[in-house]
Amino acid sequence: MSIVAIQKTASDSFEDIKKAVAKVVEDIGGLEDIIKPGYKVIIKPNLVATPTDRLSGGVTRWEVCMAIYEMVAAMGATPILAESSACGVNTEDVIKKCGYQDLRDQGIPFINLKDKANNDTICTMPMKHGTILQSFKTWELVRDADAIITVPVLKTHDQTEITLGMKNLKGLLCDVQKKEFHTKGLVDSVCDLVETLKPCLEIIDGTYGQQGLGPIYGETRKMDLIIGSKDLVACETVAGLIMGYEPEEVMITKQAYERGLGEMDIDKIEVVGKQIDEVKSRFKRTSEVEIEGLPASCNVIFDYQACTGCHNTVISSLFDMKGEGLMDYLENMNIVVGPVKPEALPEGANADNTVAIGLCAKKTVGDALGLRWAVGCPPNNATVVQAILGDRREYGTRYASKDE
Ligand code: SF4
Repeated sequence: MSIVAIQKTASDSFEDIKKAVAKVVEDIGGLEDIIKPGYKVIIKPNLVATPTDRLSGGVTRWEVCMAIYEMVAAMGATPILAESSACGVNTEDVIKKCGYQDLRDQGIPFINLKDKANNDTICTMPMKHGTILQSFKTWELVRDADAIITVPVLKTHDQTEITLGMKNLKGLLCDVQKKEFHTKGLVDSVCDLVETLKPCLEIIDGTYGQQGLGPIYGETRKMDLIIGSKDLVACETVAGLIMGYEPEEVMITKQAYERGLGEMDIDKIEVVGKQIDEVKSRFKRTSEVEIEGLPASCNVIFDYQACTGCHNTVISSLFDMKGEGLMDYLENMNIVVGPVKPEALPEGANADNTVAIGLCAKKTVGDALGLRWAVGCPPNNATVVQAILGDRREYGTRYASKDE
């Protein structure tokens, strides 16, 4: 039977978080069967993008990673923290904003995989049972690791309902492959990656989670939880239930279960420590969120294959426009993100009232309709805002011409 452990943290202090992580690990049977002396162990937090605050629930807090680090090191293994943030995001900025630089200053290795210094170690790995991609680009550190521990946060996601430890593995891919995952089939690709990299443990930082507009612009939920299991599917089934999602609703959980990667039947999962009913609290879904002040006449159309980079940029650009008093410019606008099909456009969409965000939207609808587009893959905020404003107002960046 798969075991999932749940613990409440007594406070935000490192000592209390360490105690909760240690109890979770003890309750799932310790690390001896998965970590051996001499192993090189990757600890993979979720640092997808720079958050407004490190405890906003969008990124993994350092205390949880450090607790795992100390346990792994005590076993005579070599733990290494590693991450590459979403496409278009500077991982180094996120590392600094989230307090991981302080760990580095204490001699804890945190590898920014996207650092140019690591370019020489980029390698190709075959994808086991690759249903979408037969191989993928990663780094030798990932290829040669003896064990991978995935350390996500408890949060919702606009494409996959929730995003936890299995999807968190995407940060071990080069950017080109992250984009391909989104454009060719995110759920299948993530399950392929789980089968290939075989992470041995998931520890969820559920101290602060995020609901609504996840993965980075959601609303913070203080949950004070640590959840862990050696069965990632069981871990995400339990975490999903805590957030109010049935496992069948979460495509990654469901498909991973159907592939035999773990247990999704709650009757076959032993929950130890706190019970689901004691700690569950429904998270607001992305589909239930409205951006305050966004005109009702504005349509933001996300294709389900749009990457996190484009998603985050658009949401954050809308917040920028709100902050700068530019919401009126969104009246009657259609904002098209990702490889949107022409039939998904609202009636009357034309070059005056519709803007294509990113290269995918340019290719699928932008070129054919002569839309102006936000240049990039993904574009940056200023480019998106300027593309929306068009020639109605200068925003301080070059005009994103439909002809580029
Ligand atoms: S344009 Fe956006 S959705 Fe398309 S591949 Fe680039 S980042 Fe992904």
